[in-house]
Amino acid sequence: MLASHGAPAGLQPPLRARGSVAGRHMLRSSPQDEQFRRGIREWLDANLTGRFAALRDAGGPGREHEAHAERVAWNRHLAAAGWTCLGWPPEHGGRGATLAQQVIFYEEYARSRAPARVGYLGEELLGPTLIAFGTHAQQRRFLEPIRAVQELWCQGYSEPGAGSDLAAVSTAAHLDGDQWVITGQKVWTSLAVEADWCFVLARTEPGSKRGAGLSYLLVPMRQKGVTVRPIRQLTGTSEFNEVFFDGARTHASLVVGEPGDGWRVARATLAIERGVATLGQQVGFERELNRLVELARQTGASGDPVIRDRLARAWIGLEAMRAHALRTLAGGAGGTGPSELKLLWSRWHQELGELAMDVQGAPSMVARGAPYDLDDWQRLFLFSRADTIYGGSDEIQRTIIAERALGLPRQARS
Ligand SMILES: Cc1cc2nc3c(=O)[nH]c(=O)nc-3n(C[C@H](O)[C@H](O)[C@H](O)COP(=O)(O)OP(=O)(O)OC[C@H]3O[C@@H](n4cnc5c(N)ncnc54)[C@H](O)[C@@H]3O)c2cc1C
Repeated sequence: MLASHGAPAGLQPPLRARGSVAGRHMLRSSPQDEQFRRGIREWLDANLTGRFAALRDAGGPGREHEAHAERVAWNRHLAAAGWTCLGWPPEHGGRGATLAQQVIFYEEYARSRAPARVGYLGEELLGPTLIAFGTHAQQRRFLEPIRAVQELWCQGYSEPGAGSDLAAVSTAAHLDGDQWVITGQKVWTSLAVEADWCFVLARTEPGSKRGAGLSYLLVPMRQKGVTVRPIRQLTGTSEFNEVFFDGARTHASLVVGEPGDGWRVARATLAIERGVATLGQQVGFERELNRLVELARQTGASGDPVIRDRLARAWIGLEAMRAHALRTLAGGAGGTGPSELKLLWSRWHQELGELAMDVQGAPSMVARGAPYDLDDWQRLFLFSRADTIYGGSDEIQRTIIAERALGLPRQARS
């Protein structure tokens, strides 16, 4: 839908699903792609050393607090070498990398166990949105600091009364001279504590309803009118937050698209949420599954026929997910491909967490130390409860499939 993640021409024919086996590459790629793979692999091997060596595996869902400052430094190091925003067009500071190369990058990044990225909300969501809808001035002001990981972003969509039903947003903004003044509350705002800026969906036409009268504003977080309150999660950590806007201000020019046309822009951002990065995520899933198989061998759980069956099903599910992800990115899965993929991976990952608890047996129910010192499996089990909620809940994905793929009658809406 958006320029930088649009026509996935690079996927066919260079990338084709091959009857893959865990631990091997799932893709057949061109000689240029293989050269690209060697380039990023060698760079990662040479650079995940010294002060960055200890960052392997740091961060990620349920662990975003880990080594944050050091991970920012690592991300800036990546950026300086041109390894951020690969898919952005060169005129906007990217590499104009093909989709195949982006997939390779995410695979190699995950394979090297490099730390979780800190700037993905800017790089994957806002950047492509600005490239498609922003003014030249907005592109000049914001794209380079995103690329260089100098400014971090958060996504101000959800509110206490507007989650799945995002068009119910009630945070309001009005113009006061050359500034927007924003009042309202956002919730579940990931990484808001660390963010310098927030892209905010706000109602700018008083009395307007649903998608009409909304605007997409770029709001600086470090100002008097913004309060961020971390929310403690099941994992004991606090990745997401409540954000209160109480007369917060931003310049009148910092509206993306026309004032009142924010719904169109906001939906475009949603459409690109976790596009090509999904394949990198699956390399991480494969690693988790391999470790779980190893754990089952160690604990003897692999002798249990039910556990063996579930592990084998997990492997098959991962292969099916990969094949579907490739087909979706290649545009071969139809308009509901991303919804199907979200359903596949979210359920798969939750079931992996449940399986991990069963492989460990009774000890899985006890934290290894106080206060709330979880091991990786417990954290996976607890954090994966969120997988079926964020990025559009499973129920919402099923509604999309029911209406758009199956042609069932539309769900009653208020
Ligand atoms: C880890 C995590 C990170 C997040 N990060 C961000 C962020 O950075 N920025 C941001 O803006 N938001 C973020 N969110 C919020 C997320 O987008 C919302 O939680 C999600 O859209 C669901 O909204 P809700 O929580 O208000 O639940 P609700 O919409 O109230 O839904 C509650 C339940 O009802 C079901 N339901 C709702 N409507 C329907 C329907 N029409 N048909 C059938 N079932 C329905 C839902 O599936 C769900 O099971 C994050 C959430 C999580 C879990």
